[in-house]
Order: sequence, then structure tokens, then C-alpha cells
Amino acid sequence: MDELRDRVERVVRQVVLETLSSLGPGVTAGLPAAVPAGRRPLLVANWKMHHTAEGAREFARALAIAPECPVEVVVCPPAVLLPVLRAALPPGSPVLLGGQNLHPEQKGAFTGEHSAAMLLDAGARYVIVGHSERRALFGEDDAVVGRKIRSALDQGLRPILCVGETLAQRRDGGTFRVLRTQLDLALSGLPLPAPGPATVVVAYEPVWAIGTGQNATPAQAQEAMAFLRDRLAERFSHAYARQVRLLYGGSASPDNVEALSVLPDVDGFLVGGASLDAGKFSAMLAALQRGKGTKG
Ligand code: PEP
Repeated sequence: MDELRDRVERVVRQVVLETLSSLGPGVTAGLPAAVPAGRRPLLVANWKMHHTAEGAREFARALAIAPECPVEVVVCPPAVLLPVLRAALPPGSPVLLGGQNLHPEQKGAFTGEHSAAMLLDAGARYVIVGHSERRALFGEDDAVVGRKIRSALDQGLRPILCVGETLAQRRDGGTFRVLRTQLDLALSGLPLPAPGPATVVVAYEPVWAIGTGQNATPAQAQEAMAFLRDRLAERFSHAYARQVRLLYGGSASPDNVEALSVLPDVDGFLVGGASLDAGKFSAMLAALQRGKGTKG
């Protein structure tokens, strides 16, 4: 039954993909959300090394988000700002917090690092793992990423695994190979049939789109993200793959979120630069809701 449903979805995805390609960029706003799969949309802010305490408080004051928001919203500030942001959010705020990185060990002589338990203690419920900046600038390979994923899950933090190809890899036709390798190795140590219901989030973040102002087209994003979901089905099960939320990340902005949100395999966004401004982030939240049909 799951397989049949997946096959139908794949045909729908293909039709959406071909339609998008033929329409060209920027003309997808208003398309109905294809194949609602019951996954709760997710919007994640990655502040990277930006903001100090006052900026975090200002963001918390300015963020417009209703307590019953159908989108799950997660903000990942620098780790030292987790308690500040937690204290600054209004009582009853649905906003969750996340870390940007963790050390795979639970404790020890690892100067400058923090563990999953420390992040949890500071208020985090999610953690970004394997961001391309960590891979490129701090030498994280797929094996380390896999250890971090396991450590997060073991200790009750939900990992947001980042995968994505560079421009050179895309030009060489290596996109699927890179995505398969990064996904397989990051999740290789996880138990079968699946690592718990919908606990892992996967973010497709083409490296060439991060911080460049050049986002993937809807067709490029859908193609890569359908591939990731299919790979999760092969690795675990169709039922599991249907539950996993897939995010797009890479120059997401108030101008392009709605068009990307209508794609069947896009369940939300991981946002860098545009997440620093509460006004822009709120606009993206509204656009995601419109794209997913959860707001008029
Ligand atoms: C990111 O760093 O995860 C990211 C998507 O950045 P930006 O939105 O700035 O491209």
C-alpha cells in the first residue's frame, strides 16, 4: 500500500516538476500544495555567528507568531544565546530553540565544545548537524556527522541533518551521488527499521545557494528532495520516509518561500541570512503557510 502511494506521489511529483520547468522561474505562486502528507511544516532559523544578547531580545520582541501556529518554528542562535532567547520569548510562545552544532561525546576534555546534554539544558530541542560551513571550514566529514546524529538522538535532541552539493559537483552531474553518500553515511549507524518516528529532519542545502542570493529553482529543489525521500524509503521504509520532514535551505527569502513551499517534498526551510530580521522571518512564516494552504 505504501509503495503504491509512493508510486502515485512520484508521478504527481514528476508532473509538478515538468509543469514548473515549462513555466519557468517565479510563476509558481498560487499553485495548490500537492499531495498533502500530514507532515507539519517547519521553519528553522540559523543565526550562525550573528547577534548578541540585545539582538536576541529584540528578535524575540518583534517575532509575530500565534500560539496555535500550524508551522513549527525553531530558532538556532549561537549556543551562548540559548538561555537569553529562552528567557526573552513571551510566556506560552510556541517557538522552539536549537543548537547549531554539538560534540558527539557526552563530556570530556574538548575545549570549546558543547554536548547534546548541555544544549538540552540550555533549552534546545533541535540541533543542526553537518552544515556545509562545518564541513568546509571545520573539517567535519561524513563519519563525524554520523556520530553527531547518533549522539543527538541518543540524548533526545532532534537533529537537522544538512546535505548538499557544491556548484562543481552539480556541474559534473554529481548531485545525486553526493546526496546519497552524505545521507547514507550520516544515517548509517541508526537502527532499522527507523530511528524513531519523524525525529530526523533532513535539510537539502545546495552549497552554491547558501548566502549567495541565488536560490535553487523549484524544479531543482523538488528533484533533489524527491531523491532524498526516495533514498530514505530505500534505507528505512516507505512509511518512514513519508514522515520525515525535508527542508530547503539556500538564500530562502520572503520573495521565494511561497513558490518553493508548494512543492510536494518541501516541508519547510532552513534559513540563514533572512532569519536575522524578525520582520523578514515572520514574512517567510506567512509565505510558508500560504504555500502549504494553512493560511488564506
Ligand atoms: C544556511 O546557512 O543554512 C543558509 C541556508 O543560509 P542562507 O539562507 O543565508 O543562504
